[in-house]
Amino acid sequence: MKQNDYDAIVIGAGPGGATIASLLANDGKRILLIDKNASAGGKMTTFHKDGHTYEMFPLNLIPYAPSLFEKLAEVTGKTDKVRNVAAEFKGDQVNILYHDRNDKVHLLDSGNLSSFKSLKMGLGDMMRSVLAVGKMLLMSDKGLKKLEKISALDYMNSLKIPEVTKIFITAAFGEGAFEMSSDMVPASHMIRAFRLSINKKKYPTPRYYQGGVGGFFMTMVETVVENGGSILWKTRVKSIDIKDGKAIGVTTEKGEKFTAPLIISNAGLRQTVFKLVGEKHFPKEYAKRIQGLHSNLADVGWRYFTSQKVLDFSTYVYFPYNCLEPWSVFEEMKDGKRKPLSNYIYIGTKSVYPTISPSDKQVIYAVMSCHPDPKQDLTPYLEYIETKLKLLFPKLFTDGVIERKEVMGLKEVSVLGVDAIFAGQGGESYGIANSIGQSDGDRPTCDLPIPGLYSVGNDTEGFGVGTHRACESGFLTYQKLTGNKII
Ligand SMILES: Cc1cc2nc3c(=O)[nH]c(=O)nc-3n(C[C@H](O)[C@H](O)[C@H](O)COP(=O)(O)OP(=O)(O)OC[C@H]3O[C@@H](n4cnc5c(N)ncnc54)[C@H](O)[C@@H]3O)c2cc1C
Repeated sequence: MKQNDYDAIVIGAGPGGATIASLLANDGKRILLIDKNASAGGKMTTFHKDGHTYEMFPLNLIPYAPSLFEKLAEVTGKTDKVRNVAAEFKGDQVNILYHDRNDKVHLLDSGNLSSFKSLKMGLGDMMRSVLAVGKMLLMSDKGLKKLEKISALDYMNSLKIPEVTKIFITAAFGEGAFEMSSDMVPASHMIRAFRLSINKKKYPTPRYYQGGVGGFFMTMVETVVENGGSILWKTRVKSIDIKDGKAIGVTTEKGEKFTAPLIISNAGLRQTVFKLVGEKHFPKEYAKRIQGLHSNLADVGWRYFTSQKVLDFSTYVYFPYNCLEPWSVFEEMKDGKRKPLSNYIYIGTKSVYPTISPSDKQVIYAVMSCHPDPKQDLTPYLEYIETKLKLLFPKLFTDGVIERKEVMGLKEVSVLGVDAIFAGQGGESYGIANSIGQSDGDRPTCDLPIPGLYSVGNDTEGFGVGTHRACESGFLTYQKLTGNKII
């Protein structure tokens, strides 16, 4: 084998690319892994600054452990090198801050029904909530299939349940889990995500890793080098090279050429088709379809670095009673026609876990969803979030608590992850939305219509919350390529 010739080239060491590169290398394949960043993790690359370990964006790792992350560590023989520090923090809980119509904020622990007493729900409302939840938990595959083209919002509106139950499930597992407005997320997916999140029997332990999510994938991609392959960091792929209709290699921005019979791109489906390969190599209908796919939402907000402990737990979600905004409202906010007034806010920190931050200091995220256009004015969102935080966590704003704060913007997203290709996109948290018409059987698959070319990561194959979806895409692509079933 010539020096620049490999069994497979993987472009991108995001969760999807790192997964497939590690799995193929683990089978003894000689892999070339190339990433424009200095380390693995993509949009979830981990940073180490002022003693903190943190990602640029807030992170909910759903499902809890053992997840596909642990499966990947097990398959590659790296379980001993991964430390789940969240599992060492006893009593973690997800706190709901529900802001009701009477302007009262209720602190509810999602795992403890007695905390819901403050809502003063009548027996009838309680029963309706319990029955609706039971129906979702017990729904058959046939029942779920019927809900593939019904939106999460329409389904929840049809249930006649109390407002707080509707808001919590729809916002957390429709909009939140899929980073997509709940009028576009299929109800079947919201229900599957809800089940995944509360299945404590199968997934009992919260997870976050020493060294962060990026650190986890850095450990996994060691498999590439251990098996005779190479990793090129800080190297941008300029093109995927096509000969006689087949993918045969890549050219980097520095002009280096590498060849392989298998090219797997983790650089996003749009960048892969329109920038790295070029539209002319694809069937017209395929390129048109990819161009027409809808993006999911982005997140905007603040990262606070504090001198003291402010949050007792890793996760708080503020839900005002009227927070279920359709896509059209996100568009109006982007165009400056409407200000954010009633959106849910995620407030969280990983600093409560051991090894993540210096004693008592915290990195706190406070973010809300927004349209993915990186060119919009972020000021109204930032003002909305800070107004609400002053109400919810006044301690944060007492003298000397905030050492530094940074805007969590949209432009950082494509810097760390995949390039923006079309106008109005680039800031999206995942990529191509998991929405009605582009999920289940309508979802783009990993095998592109060019022999030897595959796409892995958020845009193809997997299901669920971001990093998990990308990791699952890595497993499913591996299985399609090799016929070896792992999951
Ligand atoms: C604000 C925000 C909040 C999020 N919240 C959560 C959450 O709570 N939970 C969760 O699980 N997920 C969350 N995510 C989503 C998560 O980050 C993504 O799902 C995940 O990173 C996607 O993985 P991926 O493998 O598809 O690709 P990416 O992470 O996009 O990685 C792509 C990789 O390809 C590389 N690359 C791209 N182009 C080139 C090129 N031309 N040459 C070389 N390398 C290239 C990039 O450098 C990058 O490393 C969030 C994301 C954001 C932005």
